[in-house]
Amino acid sequence: MMIESENIDVFIIGGSIGGLACAHALLKTGSCNITVFERAKAISAAGAGLGLGDEALEVVRSFGLAKELDSITQPLYVEINRAVAPDGHVRQVYEDRIYNHRSLHWSDLHKVLLNALPQDIIHFGTTVTGVEQASGSKRTVVRAQSKREGADADDMHHISVECDLVIAADGSMSDTRRRFKPDESRRYSGYCAWRGVVTDKEAREAAQAAREAYPELGSALYFDLAQDSHAVLYELPGQRLNWLWYINQPEPNLTGHSVTVKADDQRIKDMRERAARTFTPELAALMQATEAPFINAIYDREPLELWAYGRIVLVGEAAHPTTPHALRSTNMAICDAGALGRSLAEHPRDIPAALRKFQEQRIACTAREVLFSRHLGRLKQSLDTKHDWFAADKKLCESLGQANMADFSN
Ligand SMILES: Cc1cc2nc3c(=O)[nH]c(=O)nc-3n(C[C@H](O)[C@H](O)[C@H](O)COP(=O)(O)OP(=O)(O)OC[C@H]3O[C@@H](n4cnc5c(N)ncnc54)[C@H](O)[C@@H]3O)c2cc1C
Repeated sequence: MMIESENIDVFIIGGSIGGLACAHALLKTGSCNITVFERAKAISAAGAGLGLGDEALEVVRSFGLAKELDSITQPLYVEINRAVAPDGHVRQVYEDRIYNHRSLHWSDLHKVLLNALPQDIIHFGTTVTGVEQASGSKRTVVRAQSKREGADADDMHHISVECDLVIAADGSMSDTRRRFKPDESRRYSGYCAWRGVVTDKEAREAAQAAREAYPELGSALYFDLAQDSHAVLYELPGQRLNWLWYINQPEPNLTGHSVTVKADDQRIKDMRERAARTFTPELAALMQATEAPFINAIYDREPLELWAYGRIVLVGEAAHPTTPHALRSTNMAICDAGALGRSLAEHPRDIPAALRKFQEQRIACTAREVLFSRHLGRLKQSLDTKHDWFAADKKLCESLGQANMADFSN
């Protein structure tokens, strides 16, 4: 690997959205040599929908990707919360017409970020197994392993490299975070989310009925509040309708790194029947018409007071895993990348100063976002107090808005 001596050598663990956004932001400084190690063998078309707010959109545009971003996003400018019943009865309880987001599919954003990077800096199928900064040393050792093409499972290629800075963008189950916080564990929210994306082509009638019953699809983010449960519905580019449904239940038995639970035919059948007893007929029909819905168990963690340990820094989901109710997780990862890039551009020869600045800018605001999202999830799932959304007073209805995040204090 070529190292230009005046540049700093940076290794990024994780090639998902947080890691790739950091690669863009640091390359933009012109003072970093970047290498990304990603455990997955290849990019997959995984995931579903998400919404990006102004700040994250601006960061991605600053990578020179404004045109690409326009082509994979569409407006999500209105937030609407409604009380709903299975007989089709609806009461609108909250709306915000300056919501200012754009919707997109997770894998479209991942592809755009990936394709715009020099491909030789990203090493798929490479798992980081250790990061160590010897005391007093300015260099950090990164150990990783990858399987040789066609080799046996235990015939691994071992890598050991030194660098000036390690960015751990290794997700909500971050091994890097565990090294620094071995006693900490994640917090199960008390519910799981069924999720699905269905195209107009796949389910013409159900999609048409949904568009009539939810006339602002295409620019609005709908939250439908049922008893002890709520659903989310919005459109993604390509006439895709994206839905989520949160159900209170005991923590599922998860294995491995993923929070996705595979749903067998019986579970999908039960979900479809229950949807008809919970939501409007149009939303239930859309859920029933989705071919491969999947389940995510919902977790977060307590906010940390420190993300940098010497010259190893946590970003994205590794630093602040959150529940999805304020649409923040991808936004936060991208905003972290933007802030880290700016801090390093300001202090190109002083990594500790850059990391101090980065943490000052990001830790307090992301802690608020994580705790607000947790609060919103508990409110909408009636986990602390039972709510009848048809009878809710003005104050309670107004507390549903995501705009409350700015003033939230726990
Ligand atoms: C496949 C996938 C699909 C998703 N789909 C959606 C979606 O539809 N909607 C939504 O809102 N959010 C989705 N998310 C989550 C959300 O996008 C994240 O909040 C966002 O990607 C920013 O998180 P992150 O990059 O910090 O961490 P993550 O997205 O969790 O990525 C962490 C990455 O680190 C890699 N990694 C972990 N450990 C190691 C190691 N030891 N060595 C090398 N690599 C390692 C993982 O393979 C992973 O790619 C998805 C995430 C993934 C990974």
